[in-house]
Amino acid sequence: MILVVYQVAAVILMDKKGYVMSGMSFLLIIPSVLLCVSLLDAMDGENKINQQSLKSHSVYYASEDMKTNIPLITRQVLENVTEQVIEKNMTLSDSPDTIKTALQSQINDIESDYLEKGIKINCTIYSIQTAAHNPFFIEVNSTLNVSQNNISHVEYLSQQVSIEGLRDPLPFIKCQAYGGVNNSSSRILYGDSLSKYLQDKGVANATHYINATAPLIIKKCPYDPYISHGNLVTLKSCIENGFFHESSDGSCFLCRLEGKGVCPHYGFETFIIPAPLNSSGPIKGPCSSDHVIYNTSTYSGYSVGYSNQNQFHYIFLDPSHQSKYGLQFIN
Ligand SMILES: [Zn+2]
Ligand SMILES: [Zn+2]
Repeated sequence: MILVVYQVAAVILMDKKGYVMSGMSFLLIIPSVLLCVSLLDAMDGENKINQQSLKSHSVYYASEDMKTNIPLITRQVLENVTEQVIEKNMTLSDSPDTIKTALQSQINDIESDYLEKGIKINCTIYSIQTAAHNPFFIEVNSTLNVSQNNISHVEYLSQQVSIEGLRDPLPFIKCQAYGGVNNSSSRILYGDSLSKYLQDKGVANATHYINATAPLIIKKCPYDPYISHGNLVTLKSCIENGFFHESSDGSCFLCRLEGKGVCPHYGFETFIIPAPLNSSGPIKGPCSSDHVIYNTSTYSGYSVGYSNQNQFHYIFLDPSHQSKYGLQFIN
């Protein structure tokens, strides 16, 4: 910059005829020149800052876009794999890996689109798992690295994706070899397949589950604490709405996609409802919690329920489940 000032000064020291300017004029011009030079310098600096800021905005928006997309794509992948398991009988052998691979593939496509715009994204999905304390969510863990020229942003993400609204794949897998199940828009219709499944396992009173039904769509039960089901109006609402309940014994959604009725993760359970009876006397049958029905050892319980339109709607509950749902006074 100093060099520039000297060059400018050297030029203006002479007029067109080659006369040297007076010392006073020269002294008056110097501040103006310095002012112009510093203004140009400032404008140049401002341009650089603006360019930096534009780049950092691009990196910021690309990061935010990816953070928004990961849960949305995960949910879509969950819907797709559930559809495949149910409609095409494609029980998964490693559901987290299947979901991770499908998700990463779609993430890679987005990365390619951004690369064409000059933004480099490296997003790696490193685990898919059931959320530790809420089985109605799947946790997606990833690292996100977004960069453009010398601006970069790195973030470790742990995002939760709801599984509510998805279909429960377990009944379809478990009863596939026993004639399969049908479904209405909201319920699994077992026909005689569940009864055959239980008879095949040597379970007593299996025929109570001929024409049994169960919830199709996963919905978390809002009646919390669960002992409030001891109010039969609540139990009726829960059964009619087809809710699911948190359970450390029930299998999680990811393991259900693999056809497992029980698993080591914190999962959920729902009730499988026998066809209603005309009388309400207590009877004994296989416990209606789906993790008991689909476990290797199935234990019994007694009927608890409510009357509606001259029919007795009920479930079988063992003492432990009666206690969980506040229904122990029934027997
Ligand atoms: Zn409930
Ligand atoms: Zn599990």
